[in-house]
Parts: sequence; structure tokens; C-alpha cells
Amino acid sequence: MKPDLRQDILRQLKRVVIKIGSGVISDHESGKPPLERGLSKKRLQGYAKRIAQIHQSGVEVLIVSSGAVMAGRERLNLNRVKLDIPEQQASAAIGQSFLMRTYEHYFDKQGLKVAQILLGHHDLEHRQRFLNAKHTLEALLAHGVIPIINENDTVTVDEIKIGDNDTLSATMACLAGAQLLIILSDVDGLYTEDPQKPRRKNEPAPELIPLIQNITPDVEARAGKSTNPLSRGGMYTKVIAAKKTMSYGVPTLVVNGLDSRVLDRIFKGESVGTLFWGGPKKINHRKHWIAHTLKPAGTITVDSGARKALVERGKSLLPAGIIRVEGRFEFGSAVRIYDEDRVEIARGLVNYNAADLDQIKGLKSGKIKSLLETGFYEEAVHRDDLVVLVTNENLEKLKKPR
Ligand code: GLU
Repeated sequence: MKPDLRQDILRQLKRVVIKIGSGVISDHESGKPPLERGLSKKRLQGYAKRIAQIHQSGVEVLIVSSGAVMAGRERLNLNRVKLDIPEQQASAAIGQSFLMRTYEHYFDKQGLKVAQILLGHHDLEHRQRFLNAKHTLEALLAHGVIPIINENDTVTVDEIKIGDNDTLSATMACLAGAQLLIILSDVDGLYTEDPQKPRRKNEPAPELIPLIQNITPDVEARAGKSTNPLSRGGMYTKVIAAKKTMSYGVPTLVVNGLDSRVLDRIFKGESVGTLFWGGPKKINHRKHWIAHTLKPAGTITVDSGARKALVERGKSLLPAGIIRVEGRFEFGSAVRIYDEDRVEIARGLVNYNAADLDQIKGLKSGKIKSLLETGFYEEAVHRDDLVVLVTNENLEKLKKPR
């Protein structure tokens, strides 16, 4: 690894997003089982102190904090593993205000103001609302305020959820134009093998990987799902979050937030955790939003000719190359594009609704014109609205049986 890579990132740092996971602000010291733990005031106080120092050094900080459901469960005495949706939402409602009150208290002691921002997928999906959120953040930061962001859990249900705060923090880092995302988690980073997996005798212990420059299918496969009932995603959602930020040129650092000195260590340039960093910006804001923020409403499967046109030649997708259409989508919806082996090769905004596209799939333009009197488009997905997610080399690896 280039030794000064982390120093370089720190030197250019003007704005950082810090994601604080439920696992790291739960009260481990109480000795209670995870589902009975509430917020650890000591940890929140510690983070407020360190974040204030970062802020005083001239770096703007945005926090994405989990912990609402956890704090609410504890206050309502709901320690069952499974809560129904209204119970989860009630927990989030009571926990969110408690979480904010606690942050406010400790940041106040540091002479800093905080602001609560609650977002749902709809706020990110609609360009206008997305930009409004950006303007609000800018105004808060210009006033020296620390925005504390969470998903609006009290009103969102699964289908319209962002889902986890790793994803939310990655979107925020891109939206806010941060130069670094730090994910404070309860694991040390990404290991060569999932450290939770039982090992055979003589099998070497998994090793922490200090730097990932490219998220390959192997890297995704190494990331395990969470085993902590308080945390949503485990390493997997962190890797997916890093994929988002990397394609926008934002480095992401996954570290163990249970180490109370971890922020100091990062800012001293120590090699803690796993750094995901693949170099400067790769795709523009709009294409990033298409590929990483919008939720796909359906899938289109294409033949090998169309796959080549998309992946190798950067062309638009024509109806003639489509062999299957699935899902219910409208004109302008985001869709996944699969090749014949069901590998997702691209995402894009579609020019036809699902029923029309199903009718015209496999057909040449001339035929389509006579079938559909209105709303004819040459392309099913125009290349300006299309983001290719694989390279030829990657695609071969994805197809190799593991
Ligand atoms: N928004 C959830 C909460 O505050 C947490 C989601 C997550 O942990 O990823 O409880």
C-alpha cells in the first residue's frame, strides 16, 4: 500500500461524514444482553468530544446516527428479537427524540449546535427533494452546525425504506460532496475471511485487509451479514456502501468504533480498519444517482449482442436486444439490466412502461412504429440514462463458479 495514502486523504479533507452504528453506541458496559441495552451516554459523550475537535480543526462534520430503534426498545422494555412494524416505528419515534436529546446535551457542552435530519427513500429518489436536502445541509454547515441524520423510521415501511444506515451514510457522503466517509462499526474492518465463520483445525486466522481498491465479486463474498441483533447490515452493507462511494470518488474507512481512540488514530494517519479507495471520481452525479440511489422497479434481460453493445461499446439499449421484461415499471423508472446468465450488467432509466416494452421486445424499430402509434423511442434505455456496472473482465469472474 502507498504509505501516504491515508495522509493524502486527510490533507485534502474539508468535509467528513461519520456513521455511528447502533452496535457502537449501545451500552456494552451494562453487561445486559444486546436486546436489552440502551444508549451508552459515555460513548456518545466521547464521540461528541472527538467530533468537536475534528470540527475545531476546520473539517466540517455530518453524522449519520443509528440507535433510535435500540434506544426506543429499551425505553419501552421491548426486548423480543422480532418486533412488528408498528412496534419498530413506535420504538424509533421514542428513541429518536431521546437520541437527539442526548447528542444535543453533549455537543452543547462542546459549544456546538446540532440539527436533526430525518430522510426516507422518497427524499432521495426525487431529484428536487434530493437537491432540497442538499441545500439544507449546506445552510446548516455554513452556520457551523453538526447535522445528525437518520432514516425517518416512524413513517417508512420496508418497500420504501433506504433500509440501513450504511447505505444512507454513503448516499449522504456523495450528496454532501464529502472527501471521506468513516463508518464506526463493531468490527475492525474487512477480513480475508468472515471472522464469524467457524474455522477448521489448522486453518489460518483471517487477516484484516487494510486497503481495498476495487470491489470485486470476491470482496463482496468475503463480507458477512451481521450477527448482532442490534445492527442491520454487518460487513455486507458496508461493502455495498463503499461501492457506492468509490464509484463517486469518495474514500470510505470502516473501523471499530468500540475503540474509544479510533477517531484520534484515524486523524493521526494510523492504519486502522479497512480503507476502500479506488481513486478520483468516476461517474457524474446524475449517473451515480441512477445507479446507486434509485430503487429499480423491474428487470430487463438482454441477449449477448446487446450485452456486448452495452458493456464493450457504450451503446444504448434497443428493444431488439431485449429477451425478457419483468416487474411493473413506468416510463422513466429505474430498471436493472441482466445478461442471459442473470448477471446484472447495467442500470438505467427506461423509455417504455413494462407492458409496452414486453410487447416490443426483440423487434426492430420499423415494426415498433407500426405497433405503437404514440410515444415511440428508438432506444429502450438511452446511453445517457444508462450506467454499465461491469467490465468484460469482471463479468468473466462473476460467471466462474466459486
Ligand atoms: N435507522 C435505524 C435506527 O436508528 C438504524 C438502521 C441501521 O442500523 O442501519 O435505529
